[in-house]
Amino acid sequence: MRDAQPTTIYLSDYRVPDFLIDKTELSFELEEAHTTVNSRLYLRRNPEALDQSAPLELHGADLSLESIALDGRELAADEWVEEGELLRIASVPDNFTLHCVTRIYPQSNTSLEGLYKSSGMFCTQCEAEGFRKITYYLDRPDVMAEFYVDIIADKSLYPVLLSNGNCVLEEDLEFGRHRTRWHDPFPKPAYLFALVAGRLSRVSDRFRTRSGREVDLHIYVEDKDLDKCEHAMTSLKNAMRWDEDVYGREYDLDIFNIVAVDDFNMGAMENKSLNIFNTSCVLAKPETTTDAGFQRVEGVVAHEYFHNWSGNRVTCRDWFQLSLKEGFTVFRDAEFSADMGSPTVKRVEDVTLLRTAQFAEDAGPMAHPVRPDSFIEISNFYTVTIYEKGAEVVRMIHTLLGAEGFRRGSDLYFERHDGQAVTCEDFVRAMEEANGVDLQQFRRWYSQAGTPRLAVSGEYDEAAQTYTLTVKQSCPATPGQAEKLPFHIPLKVALLGEAGQLRLNLQGHKADPDAADNTERVLAVTEDTQAFVFTDIPERPVPSLLRGFSAPVRLHFDYRRDELLTLMAKDSDGFCRWDASQQLGLAEILSAISAQESGQAAVVAEDFVAACRSLLLDESLDPAMVALMLQLPSEAYLAELISPVDVQAIYRAREAVRKGLAHALRSELEACYGRCDVEEEYAANAEQIARRSLKNTALAYLMLCEDGEVYALARRQFERSGNMTDRLAALVAIVNAAEPYKGEALQRFYQDWQHEPLVINQWFQVQATCRLPGTLGRVKELMSHPAFDIGNPNKVRALIGAFCGQNAVNFHAEDGSGYAYLADQVIELNRRNPQIASRLLTPLTKWQKYLPAAQTAMKAELRRILAEPELSSDVYEVVSKSLQGAEGN
Ligand code: ZN
Repeated sequence: MRDAQPTTIYLSDYRVPDFLIDKTELSFELEEAHTTVNSRLYLRRNPEALDQSAPLELHGADLSLESIALDGRELAADEWVEEGELLRIASVPDNFTLHCVTRIYPQSNTSLEGLYKSSGMFCTQCEAEGFRKITYYLDRPDVMAEFYVDIIADKSLYPVLLSNGNCVLEEDLEFGRHRTRWHDPFPKPAYLFALVAGRLSRVSDRFRTRSGREVDLHIYVEDKDLDKCEHAMTSLKNAMRWDEDVYGREYDLDIFNIVAVDDFNMGAMENKSLNIFNTSCVLAKPETTTDAGFQRVEGVVAHEYFHNWSGNRVTCRDWFQLSLKEGFTVFRDAEFSADMGSPTVKRVEDVTLLRTAQFAEDAGPMAHPVRPDSFIEISNFYTVTIYEKGAEVVRMIHTLLGAEGFRRGSDLYFERHDGQAVTCEDFVRAMEEANGVDLQQFRRWYSQAGTPRLAVSGEYDEAAQTYTLTVKQSCPATPGQAEKLPFHIPLKVALLGEAGQLRLNLQGHKADPDAADNTERVLAVTEDTQAFVFTDIPERPVPSLLRGFSAPVRLHFDYRRDELLTLMAKDSDGFCRWDASQQLGLAEILSAISAQESGQAAVVAEDFVAACRSLLLDESLDPAMVALMLQLPSEAYLAELISPVDVQAIYRAREAVRKGLAHALRSELEACYGRCDVEEEYAANAEQIARRSLKNTALAYLMLCEDGEVYALARRQFERSGNMTDRLAALVAIVNAAEPYKGEALQRFYQDWQHEPLVINQWFQVQATCRLPGTLGRVKELMSHPAFDIGNPNKVRALIGAFCGQNAVNFHAEDGSGYAYLADQVIELNRRNPQIASRLLTPLTKWQKYLPAAQTAMKAELRRILAEPELSSDVYEVVSKSLQGAEGN
């Protein structure tokens, strides 16, 4: 464990490093009991350092030091001291080499940070600060070195030995061992270092860059998974081409490797030329992987590949700048996925994630700006705010500058900062300078936390033929930030008239040169209150606001019902059309909650039923959009809109509305199901995914009719479908219904797939997210199932994480059993894997939103965790921050 008193790191304390490393030579001797790491660092004083006589301070954690020598001379015991995570040598020359031998124990490293073993292979995870668990080093991203790496291991156990860059030597050694040497010509920070050793098979391909470089592509997996690599390989080649086409970025080495590992804390890691992936983000085949799984593989493969420029060639100066690479790269992968599939569906999915998880984070105790000012444990800041809100900030710049202006900015950014470790400020400045614009006020998106609120009202003046939109912005206080200054918010709008979108003339402004038909406009909202007057408006319009979700804000406009129905049926902006359906669905749920409170039965409004009916009947619509619009706002989103959150009442009301729709639309749902249920060879393309999504949405509704006929339909789908999307959707339907076939279905599914860990994760997850009573008992039972492994993060997420994070009605059981269960698991995982323990905690930290009794129970569990001895800094930071402001703490 780390220090008893975790310390806070501040951005304002940033100083350039006192020393630089020009070259790093590492040699790893991998053995069964331990690994010996020899490191030779070629160090020199940084001419830009303030203190030219500063001691050398290297980071190191859980290392056992065998020897340390400076310029070939072994240091005496009194020439260095170790304090916490620092090794200090008081007196060093201006130029020197430091030779350290350390011993580490990958076999017993359960944190999955540094060098560890997963399913018999050695692998590394160094971001953010894991390299210090391998050897003493300047483990900060602004220290970049050229790496030479030797790996020595038993040849039969570890025939494949990989590191970054090019393989420059392979040789057999005595006693059945062998050695490879790797050289990475691109100087890089330690967090991008990687090593892999194992018995791996590979799938290979080639890519020819547009300037003619032939790149060897390899995906390394266990032998049994060779049949699941094709989709990742195709995705990789598509991503490489796309980055050339859209950003002019080419790959820069002759080899690009991906390795799949079972035990991994996150999705994947962009180590230079040696990306390491969670198996769940690389393996896919139709029989084992859902459509969502295929899309995740495509997105993550692209994300990590895009990091080669946005992250590796241009990296971060310090970890406060994390969103510089993550926000930008998420924006890039989202645009890529949109281009590969359905742009509107991708946008709606991303907005859904943002408006549930990120808005919740921004409203809770862990709220932080896209560029945080301080942290205790950087691993806690790989958040939806850094990633998803960060991507929205980049998207807003794209909206403000237009595609060409944005490209001019990114070209300048990459050219100017290639090989450097830079800041969010450098990114914004490149965008500004390449376009001659001023983004001064826009920069507040990086420094101010919290989700801005836009209250918009519209007024039509028939006599003057004007329509005035009045926009008020505000932003709630967040920890450490009581007052906010106004943001620069790009508000994309159109005005709908009877016959379509109206031409927009904005008083005091020229026509928007980028808007081809002049019926859509990006309003620059920059003040607390602002009025935008549109002239020559011949009729009272329905405003279409925040088109494409042009800014990460909560927008309120007091629409009449008929206006929402118009938007839902007619708006040309897919996001706004979908959002109108969600607002109507919300109204139904709110009225069902009131009905319940006064002991009445909920009735779904006729006009809403009619709107859903026309969606189901209109075969000209994109089925994926129909599916999205038919789905009511999720419980997680409702919890963001309703305060305080009464989980049980929300669940009951939402179910009542769903049931009402199912009964009212049964024949249309059946017809729609029949239309979408076509026999075809599986492909993960937008068209098929759309059809399956609508079919399974219809199935989920039909199940609510609760009779033998619909149960037989689900059963038929479960038994006959050859792809995992349909099979799993049927299983979910069966498990959540009072279906007698449930036990048999679960058993069959297990028997069919017990040899596929990723499918078994789905099996755990389906049971953990079952809405019916008794689920917690089942989850506890499953923890002693032979297929469960608390050391494997995917399993933990599938069972514990899914129950606590995606099963509100059971997690928030009124007896507090869900909270106690989560606290027990966090305490157990705190020692084993602090990153996973801390992430798992998220649902408990949102206690402020719930009813008083729930709040008390949740806080009591947080306090129980806080009282544990030896809390990791990860768990300590999240628990202590979420209890801040709670009385009695
Ligand atoms: Zn990333």
